[in-house]
Formats: sequence, C-alpha cells, structure tokens
Amino acid sequence: MFSNTKSDQSNVAQNRSHGDVNLNIITRQEHTISRAHISDNALKVLYRLNKHGYDAFLVGGGVRDLLLDKEPKDFDIATNATPEQIKQLFRNCRLIGRRFRLAHIMFGREIIEVATFRGHHQEPEKNQSAQSKEGMLLRDNVYGTVEEDAERRDFTINAMYYNIADFSIHDYANGVADLKAGVIRMIGDPETRYREDPVRMIRAIRFAAKLNMTIEPNTAAPIKELVHLMSGVPGARLFEESLKLLQSGQGWATYLLLREYNLFSCLFPTVAQYFTPEQNSDVEKMAEIVLKSTDKRINEGKRINPAFMFAAFLWYPLQYRAKELAEARKLNHYDAIMMASNDILDEQVRHLAIPRRHSATIRDIWQLQLRLTRRSGKRAFQMLELNKFRAGFDMLEMRGKVEGGQAKELATWWQEFQDAPSVHRQNMVQSVGSEKPSGRRRKRPHSKRKSSKPKAKE
Ligand code: ATP
Ligand code: MG
Repeated sequence: MFSNTKSDQSNVAQNRSHGDVNLNIITRQEHTISRAHISDNALKVLYRLNKHGYDAFLVGGGVRDLLLDKEPKDFDIATNATPEQIKQLFRNCRLIGRRFRLAHIMFGREIIEVATFRGHHQEPEKNQSAQSKEGMLLRDNVYGTVEEDAERRDFTINAMYYNIADFSIHDYANGVADLKAGVIRMIGDPETRYREDPVRMIRAIRFAAKLNMTIEPNTAAPIKELVHLMSGVPGARLFEESLKLLQSGQGWATYLLLREYNLFSCLFPTVAQYFTPEQNSDVEKMAEIVLKSTDKRINEGKRINPAFMFAAFLWYPLQYRAKELAEARKLNHYDAIMMASNDILDEQVRHLAIPRRHSATIRDIWQLQLRLTRRSGKRAFQMLELNKFRAGFDMLEMRGKVEGGQAKELATWWQEFQDAPSVHRQNMVQSVGSEKPSGRRRKRPHSKRKSSKPKAKE
C-alpha cells in the first residue's frame, strides 16, 4: 500500500494490505543524520535493544526533524521487542498507557519512549483493539511488523525509520520525497484515518504550520466535513494537543490555519463565537497579541506560563458574559465577573480540559485586572510583591493595546511605577490616592447585596 505514487492515493487506500510496501532504504552515505545529533540516552536504548537481538529504530519526529536540520523535541523509538521484553532490558523502565501500551525509559529528566511495532486492528474478538461507533480507535494494542507499524503512522514524513543496526533510513511511505517537497500527506485513506483518530486533523495543521509545509489536497479535503468528530476526543487529550499547537513557537501561524479549517472552534468555542469576517473583534485582537507574544518568548528561549494564553483568550468573552449577567440579575460589576468566570471556565473545560492548577492561575490573572485599578495607600506596593503580578500586568498591557483608553493609561502607570525610584513611586501613589479608583463600579455601601459570592481579598 505504500507504493504511493502520489496520484493514486485513494485507490491505494482501498487496497490496504500488509506486506505490499514500497521500502526505500537510504544508506548512511546518502543521508545527513549523524549520531552526534541524537541524544545519548536514545542511542543507549537503541544499542541495547539491538545488542539483545531486537530491531531498533529511531522514528517519527526525531528522524523528520534531523533530516530538516532542526533539533527534535523528543526521540521516539520503535522495536519488535514487546513491552515486557523491553522492561527486562532496562531497570529504569516504566510501562504506561492503556490505549497504547508503551515503555518509558527514564534518564533523569529525559524520557525515551519505546513502542512495540503496532499491527492492524482487525480482530476485535481478541479484545486487544476496540472501535467506537464512529470508527474511532479506543484501544489499540495489537503488535505487528515494522511494515505494519509504518502503515499505522499518520503522515508520510513521520514514517521514516532510522535503523541503529546499519545507520540507514527505512522510508516506507516516500516520506523523504514528501519532506523535500514540503508536503503533509496522510498514509492510507485520509477520511478513514481521521475517523480512527480525529486528532490527526489537528496534527496535520500542526505540522503544516510548524514545518511551513502544505497539506496535500486529498489529505486536506475531508477535514472540514469531519470537524464534528473532534467532540468525541477526550478533553484532557485536547488540552495537551492545544499546548503543542499554540505554545510551541508557531502558535500564530497554527491558529490561522486552525481557523481556516474550522478546527479552532472545536478547541475554543467560547472564543470562536466572537470571530468576525474582518478578524478584528477585540477577542481576535487579543488572540493575535497573545499568540505573537508567546511565539516571541518561546523563540527567545524564555519561559511561558501555559495559563496566560487561556486567560487572554477568554478575557473578552468573560467581559461580555459578565455584562449580560449584571444586566439580567442586577449584579454589581465585581460579582458579575466572579459569576461569569465560573461560567466561562466551565464552558471551556467541557471541550478542552484545562487542569485545575491552570484554571486557578487563570482566575488569578483575571482578578488582578480588577485589583490593578486600586493603587492608593500601600496597595500598589503590595501588588508588586504578588507572584502573579507580572502575569496580571502583562495582560493589562495587552488589553491596553486592544482597547486603548483606561486600560492603556493604567498599563502605562504600572510600567512607570515599576521603573521608578522609590521616592517617585510614593508621589505616584499619592497622586492617584486623591483620585477616585478607576474602573471599579462597585458602589459602597450596598445594602441590598443579593449575591453570597465571596469577596476578593484585597
Ligand atoms: P513532535 O515534534 O511534536 O514530537 P512527532 O511527529 O514526533 O512530532 P509525536 O506526537 O511525538 O509527534 O509522535 C511520534 C510519532 O508517532 C509520529 O511521528 C507518528 O509517526 C506517530 N503518531 C503520533 N500520533 C499519531 C496518531 N495520532 N496517529 C498515527 N500516528 C501517530
Ligand atoms: Mg515526537
């Protein structure tokens, strides 16, 4: 099935059969992958498997990125040893996974993932593999040959195997040619493969954006029709994928492509409902600013806080919800924001499961937007000490760029306050001390408070 003469993809896909593979072997002399660029730990694992008589290949993104002269994110290994056999060879081995059983070989902070070749999943009676009504694979632990393993991978450029026995590359799906041509091409029939695992749709987008490649037309064609399948993907997996998509240094390009394929709305429906044809709503402006700034930070090697992007994406949807609630239930601004925060996060988590530790940070960043308006007395000084201050301030600055007006003035004030010598800081605080706090609409005293929501600690 890998004969893959590019024009006859659909025919080829109908004829999926084992063994009918078109293997190109690229010898050590003919390619540029040097062991010097492979992690020592990955090499150790490859050598040891090989020494004990097993096949051992580096595969996936490791091979792809090395051929592109990029630094791989991780090194994945495929072998014909079973997970149990792998465990016997390595003391530092943990078997993980239910959907896919995998071995993790632990070397301090580096984890080398070793997978046993996967076979076809055609014998459901064995209870090794399971499929949902939609054709989605739920369990998938049938082992197979390296050829079958290659057919089970997603894109041709991800199915190149670097053989530790002779340092050659086994290219089963013409991945080398596609890599040279800059093409993301699904192995097999794209629609079937998307139905088996809808995450492959966002992986196509991810690689196209990350590698600046184009999605081959047959691979691209079914995506828009199948977007609805994304709702069957567990939220925890979508959260992980969203980080890989948007927080790997090409977030802005990936976002644009996700929008083009109607996939962004599967991940962030609350955000996507404010999308406009002109792409210039405040929600969209904020998304652009936060994604470009995240890309810049990552590419400069700076740390990022994963929660920040979510806080920024959802900030304006939060404002709109709060306004509705304030009007419908006669709540003050503060209470409306608190209630809307719950709504917006609940809604988001139903699609993409943001872990609790991150949602707590998102709330902190939002609350800081209210607190940053209050600067009199000791407040401004205390605020600087908060460990989320920087994130709160960064978001205020982004809001300033989106909205101008008060947010912009406030961001400028805080910037100046941080830069100022302490005498000047005192003056700054005194001059705001005589003003009414801005942006705070809560009237006090308020005798008819209905809500029992807790007040922010200030
Ligand atoms: P990255 O640079 O993001 O690590 P990668 O290609 O290595 O890219 P991984 O998620 O690490 O991606 O997966 C390793 C390999 O496993 C892929 O290259 C691909 O061959 C295979 N793979 C991963 N996810 C899928 C999937 N959903 N369907 C089929 N094959 C997959
Ligand atoms: Mg990888």
